[in-house]
Amino acid sequence: MRIKKVNNHYDVIVIGLGIMGAATLWRSPKNSSKIMGIDASSPTYSRGSSQGASRIFRQAYWKGCKYLPLLRQANLLWNELEQTSQMQLIVRTGGIFIGHEHSRLVAGSINTAMEGSVDHKIWTGLKIKNNFPAFNISEQMKGVFEPGAYAISASNARSCMLNQAVKSGATAVFGDCVTAIENHKRGVLVKTRRGQIYVAKSVIVTTGPWIAKYLMPELNHLLDPRQVPVYWFKPKNSSKQLFSADHFPVFLYERQDGSLLYGLPSICNSEPGVKIGFHNRQQTSENPQWKSVPVQDNYINDISEAVSLIFPELEKKPICAINCYYTMSIDESFLIDRSQIMESVYFASVCSGHGFKFAPAIGDALANMAFERQCAVPLSEFGVQRFNSISCKF
Ligand SMILES: Cc1cc2nc3c(=O)[nH]c(=O)nc-3n(C[C@H](O)[C@H](O)[C@H](O)COP(=O)(O)OP(=O)(O)OC[C@H]3O[C@@H](n4cnc5c(N)ncnc54)[C@H](O)[C@@H]3O)c2cc1C
Repeated sequence: MRIKKVNNHYDVIVIGLGIMGAATLWRSPKNSSKIMGIDASSPTYSRGSSQGASRIFRQAYWKGCKYLPLLRQANLLWNELEQTSQMQLIVRTGGIFIGHEHSRLVAGSINTAMEGSVDHKIWTGLKIKNNFPAFNISEQMKGVFEPGAYAISASNARSCMLNQAVKSGATAVFGDCVTAIENHKRGVLVKTRRGQIYVAKSVIVTTGPWIAKYLMPELNHLLDPRQVPVYWFKPKNSSKQLFSADHFPVFLYERQDGSLLYGLPSICNSEPGVKIGFHNRQQTSENPQWKSVPVQDNYINDISEAVSLIFPELEKKPICAINCYYTMSIDESFLIDRSQIMESVYFASVCSGHGFKFAPAIGDALANMAFERQCAVPLSEFGVQRFNSISCKF
């Protein structure tokens, strides 16, 4: 195949501009016109996992200390992004992680906070109620309070990353879907639905829940895209103040049966109320769609029951419910690596429902990998090799 157009040649092409792709473009070398990002959606519309106004950032990670180096770097970079874009992207609410004393959430958060010297306090149920009166919890519950946890203004952060990248010389193309990537003697070919063929020295694939089915089938046995609903609940009329970002932290709450709720106060006018969802329940394995799919009534009833017990001052029924996607890996961690099949192709599947907070650090790592620079944080914990002995999916 002859490839004629010189302006279709890039050093690096990033496919998929959700938060991971946007962060990669932002962390790529400045003043280079040879970097391109491409996304099937429009700039402000995303059907994948990064949609919506807010996400939780926290470091007392109950899932373990291996995430701490990336979390520390991500924290620095979120602050850098906020400063350089001169826009509020971080809402400093603090975070409370509640459960029974020996729950995975409480015990795990304390462990990581102690081992990693993350500032935290251990609170009784009474102390939680005194500090955050919106919570109705029993005396037997415990909470780990992390004062440095915060809410990220998610869609604004993604826009700021893209704006800064384009200002620094990168090209961003929206509304065209990549249909194939192939090695070629000139580099990596990137073919699109609109008939474009681009050539790059390296390609980074960050296509969220679509990654394994379409562009990286080598990951198919390791990833499971799941449809998951998220909800917004309105405070009852006299209780708005209790749920404002000044009085209500980002939270995780582990119930007796092990199900985990997460939530954040509304941090911008476009959000209709307090955002709450189940982290490990109501998940349906599903091929990701490009259209919206309504949330099932039984899921709405299920979450309404849970929320009304913990937050009696929220309206029982959610005011809004939408379906999004978690891309789950077998161990609920991340996959960041180079392709085992295609040369000069790198990828990141950083979801399992908790990847957003890491995005600036992951973007930095991917850009370093593609430009053959040393990564600031070691990524060996997140490579595919850890699954070498596993052959079947889930
Ligand atoms: C409801 C919900 C709540 C969450 N809460 C938190 C939280 O509080 N804290 C946290 O840290 N994480 C959270 N997460 C996880 C986090 O949002 C995800 O880890 C993160 O958004 C994944 O981003 P991504 O860029 O990898 O994927 P996506 O956002 O899905 O982006 C993929 C992009 O690729 C594009 N694309 C796909 N295929 C193609 C193609 N062939 N060609 C071109 N473009 C393509 C899509 O249009 C899309 O824009 C949450 C996730 C959900 C769903």
